[in-house]
Amino acid sequence: MDSVIVIGAGLGGLEVGYILARHGLRVTVLEQERQIGGCLQTFRRLGRTFDTGFHYVGGLDEGQSLHPLFKYFNLLDLPWRRLDEDCFDEVFIEGAGAFPFASGHERFVERLSEKFPGSREELRKYASFLKGVGDHIFDSFDSPSENFSKSAYEFLCGTVSDPLLRKVLSGTSLKMELNADTLPLYIFAQINNSFIQSAWRLEGGGELIAARLASQIESFGGQVRTRARVEHLVEEGGRIARVELEGGETLSADWVVSDAHPAVTLGLVSDTKMLRRIYRNRISSLKNTFGMFTANICLKKDSLPYLNRNVFVHTAGADLWRPDASRTESVLVHSYVPEEGSYSTHLDILSPMSIDSRTEDYEARKEAKARECLSLAEKAIPGLSDAVERVFTSTPLTYESYTGTPGGSAYGVAKDWMNPMGTILSPRTPIPNLLMTGQSLNLHGILGVSMTSVFTSACILGMDALKAEILP
Ligand SMILES: Cc1cc2nc3c(=O)[nH]c(=O)nc-3n(C[C@H](O)[C@H](O)[C@H](O)COP(=O)(O)OP(=O)(O)OC[C@H]3O[C@@H](n4cnc5c(N)ncnc54)[C@H](O)[C@@H]3O)c2cc1C
Repeated sequence: MDSVIVIGAGLGGLEVGYILARHGLRVTVLEQERQIGGCLQTFRRLGRTFDTGFHYVGGLDEGQSLHPLFKYFNLLDLPWRRLDEDCFDEVFIEGAGAFPFASGHERFVERLSEKFPGSREELRKYASFLKGVGDHIFDSFDSPSENFSKSAYEFLCGTVSDPLLRKVLSGTSLKMELNADTLPLYIFAQINNSFIQSAWRLEGGGELIAARLASQIESFGGQVRTRARVEHLVEEGGRIARVELEGGETLSADWVVSDAHPAVTLGLVSDTKMLRRIYRNRISSLKNTFGMFTANICLKKDSLPYLNRNVFVHTAGADLWRPDASRTESVLVHSYVPEEGSYSTHLDILSPMSIDSRTEDYEARKEAKARECLSLAEKAIPGLSDAVERVFTSTPLTYESYTGTPGGSAYGVAKDWMNPMGTILSPRTPIPNLLMTGQSLNLHGILGVSMTSVFTSACILGMDALKAEILP
């Protein structure tokens, strides 16, 4: 029976650990933090549970994108709560008003056509293209989609003629970094489509996903260890022969799979001729997506009715396809499912932020950013500021310190449709028993990381076996 060491207990590491343990490999997952989960970690403030990264998923109903994967990972029976089907996401643009995103492609078209009656046909084409990409998501188990080498921005401009409608259709996209010059159509279409299929929050937070995967790995005989930071991977005889942990412990296995950011992974392999400088430089010079500022807000009792939708608020002048993370032009307001009653007890406001070091004015910058976020959110949710009991904050530097992702990038390596071969990364490395997984390789987010965990595991088990198990 082969053995495998997985570096990192983020979603990617835990899913690979689950797949391989289920296939009888001896799995040890090593997580540097005290808590497993990476971007699925949760924390408590004033008795409320907050998420760090993940906030909602799409496509959980039968026949939709995430369903077969979460069925395979045994995650469908967690307390998923469906967002308002008539308006799961609301896009609010200062000066233009509020626009609903409804679940289901037909309803999506109908609801937006009420606001843009002259664009009904274009909306139909837009939604039907997205649906087509989503319906073929599992084709990528065999070969990458050609939509990786097409421009998302050109598709949008070529399909939708009204500039305001284009802005609205781009308005829920804080879940990816929109970039007019680089974003591949595949990422835009696949992610937007999965949320239009159906949208869900998880009552209790992302730690439930991590805990379920870890307990299943253990039930298959594997181990998930925390406070186990990998410091070096030692190559000998053309393979990773030893994994050295902080504190001096050394482990070895037939396979090593890393869920850390690819540049971090290569940094762990110290002295080897197998990783040429050109390969290291290519990986370490890849651009990362923006980092995220989060204001975690505890609300006064019974002061704000529960919002069973996400609200994306943008200034009138925000150029969504050239986001400026040094300004607060866009925010996402996410309300947590209340344990009881019909009022929100706490919510998050997220906004892209650029910050690269803890300078003297770090605390002041965090406070200023939180004020800007609240004041922008207030435009769509009047009375929000009065409902605030207490505000806690985190910046991209917080993410960097607990996931190790360079710059605290929210979604890892940015992809470029003009250079798909250079920005979509293979799970394989030049060292045959060292594999990679996680959000930086292919598609990010819960859906993307789950797909990638299958690509990575297939390098050991073969794709045919996995396809037969996972696909309906
Ligand atoms: C603010 C924010 C909001 C988001 N919202 C959503 C959302 O609503 N929906 C959605 O689908 N996605 C969302 N995402 C994206 C999603 O959360 C991520 O794509 C996904 O969780 C990443 O998982 P991962 O396993 O690739 O990486 P990570 O979660 O970063 O896991 C990597 C793990 O490796 C560990 N590690 C690193 N180096 C070492 C080492 N040397 N030794 C041991 N362990 C190590 C880290 O500690 C970490 O636990 C969001 C992300 C952010 C940041």
